[in-house]
Amino acid sequence: MEGSSAGSGNSGLSRNSSARCIEFLLKDCYHGVRARLITSNTERNPFRRFQKCPVTKNDCGFYEWIDDELPQFQNECVRNMMRTNRNLDEQLK
Ligand SMILES: [Zn+2]
Repeated sequence: MEGSSAGSGNSGLSRNSSARCIEFLLKDCYHGVRARLITSNTERNPFRRFQKCPVTKNDCGFYEWIDDELPQFQNECVRNMMRTNRNLDEQLK
């Protein structure tokens, strides 16, 4: 007879926010510091997130995309949205 002790008390796996999801993906730069999460807003890569070395004075050169590049069609959709947004912003001024 074996007395197996199955501990089933911990139920801390119910968090499901996207913030936690992204945190799980984040990496450290070559300094061993958690790299900064930045959202690109260039025409070429709109809303694409990447990580970069957080040290500004002595950048170790760490740079990595988190999101995959958007397919061309979606990329154009986002760009159109950004353009519309900008126009609306202009109108509000
Ligand atoms: Zn670094």
